[in-house]
Amino acid sequence: MTVLRSGVATDVGRARDSNEDRAAAGDTLFAVADGMGGHVGGEVAARIAVDTLQSAYDQNPTIAGLREAFVAANSAIWEKSLEVEQLRGMGTTLTAAGLTVGSDGRDVMCLANVGDSRAYLMSGGQVRQITADHSLAEERVRHGEMTEAEAEVHPHRHILTRALGVGPDVDVDLWELHVHTGDRLLLCSDGLTNEVSVAQISQVLETVKDPRKAARALVDRANAHGGSDNITVVVVDVLVGEEGAPEPSAVSRVSVPGPVNVVRRASGAEGAPPVTGTHPGGDPITAVVRAVPGGRDPDAPAAEAFVSSPAAVQTLPPREYRPRPELAPLPRETRRERRRRLGIPRRITLRVILFFVLVLAVPAGAVAVVHWYAMDNWYVAVDHDHLAVYQGRKGGFLGFQPKLLDLTGVTTAQVLPRRLPALRATVNEPSLRAGEQYIANLHQEFLAQQNSAALNGGL
Ligand code: MG
Repeated sequence: MTVLRSGVATDVGRARDSNEDRAAAGDTLFAVADGMGGHVGGEVAARIAVDTLQSAYDQNPTIAGLREAFVAANSAIWEKSLEVEQLRGMGTTLTAAGLTVGSDGRDVMCLANVGDSRAYLMSGGQVRQITADHSLAEERVRHGEMTEAEAEVHPHRHILTRALGVGPDVDVDLWELHVHTGDRLLLCSDGLTNEVSVAQISQVLETVKDPRKAARALVDRANAHGGSDNITVVVVDVLVGEEGAPEPSAVSRVSVPGPVNVVRRASGAEGAPPVTGTHPGGDPITAVVRAVPGGRDPDAPAAEAFVSSPAAVQTLPPREYRPRPELAPLPRETRRERRRRLGIPRRITLRVILFFVLVLAVPAGAVAVVHWYAMDNWYVAVDHDHLAVYQGRKGGFLGFQPKLLDLTGVTTAQVLPRRLPALRATVNEPSLRAGEQYIANLHQEFLAQQNSAALNGGL
């Protein structure tokens, strides 16, 4: 006989307006679902998943039945999303544990998972993660492309590679757990594991004995660390299990071949009436007849009994819209994201070079235009009594000073005095050659007048 007691806690968190997580903590079945796909879709997907899981597993409480229940939940969500336009793309994670009878006749916990909600088992002083996240980051860890530490902070850690309701078929991971007295099973949404380390989770599981208080304490820890997502926790204590196991309970991955017949809810399938008693902790408990493998038959004799607390299925409020990235095609981490994550300095790429070329080209162009304007001029002026040709603007322009091109041998005494005022004020010419020609003409003019004066004097 296996005696279980459970506690459940869920919270919207500190960043969202509503709760799209959903949990179940019944007599033999425990589950956490984390919906996705929009404000309405996420809530609907998680609700359909948990409701379908409960009704389907109720009809066939075996490990094969648990897989069938997941397949049924997947089909129910998928079909609903095809029916209702606004629910297109909805889906959910689902992690569930059910108490059943193994092939060897012993009680066994069967565990199933799709998505990134998790199951941990505390047994023999160890806390182990049983499920493997179906997330892009974890897939890369499994393929050796990144470390666990990198995956914990990777921007793609929330991108699911498997979810319920996003397609007509689904693969379900399954395990069998031979639980022992004192074992503690934890099911939780990523709102807990994103905020609280495994070490802190272990500390709470080891110190808070009441499962309801432990579940609440874990939710409180997640909120204290930010509460950026909805948080849902189910804690299942094995009050009585297998005995005499000094080492942690065995966990084995199992494979249930498909296809399976989807089990739908059947009317009139009620369990045997409960009897009351007291569990070792002193709280009131309810003992009910556990369904035998293959289906619950109300007329069949009680095969075995299990004991649980009155913890009931939780009906959780809806959560706010929280879109997850699409499932396909899988987005890849960009080279820039990977370099930033690994702290690799930026490389000098062609784009970087082009950027700097453009940045430098603008001021360089402006300087070239100013230089062209400043130097596209020539003028004749007097330099130490000699006539000279300069290039540039007299007095300079925006820092570009005029340049002396030709200091001629013609002095101010060798040109007519009436030309001097204009020369001292500078005379613009279109080129160096024109400037030199102008000076030569002035000198010729002066010589002609000299000759004329001499001739007149001679007469
Ligand atoms: Mg979540």
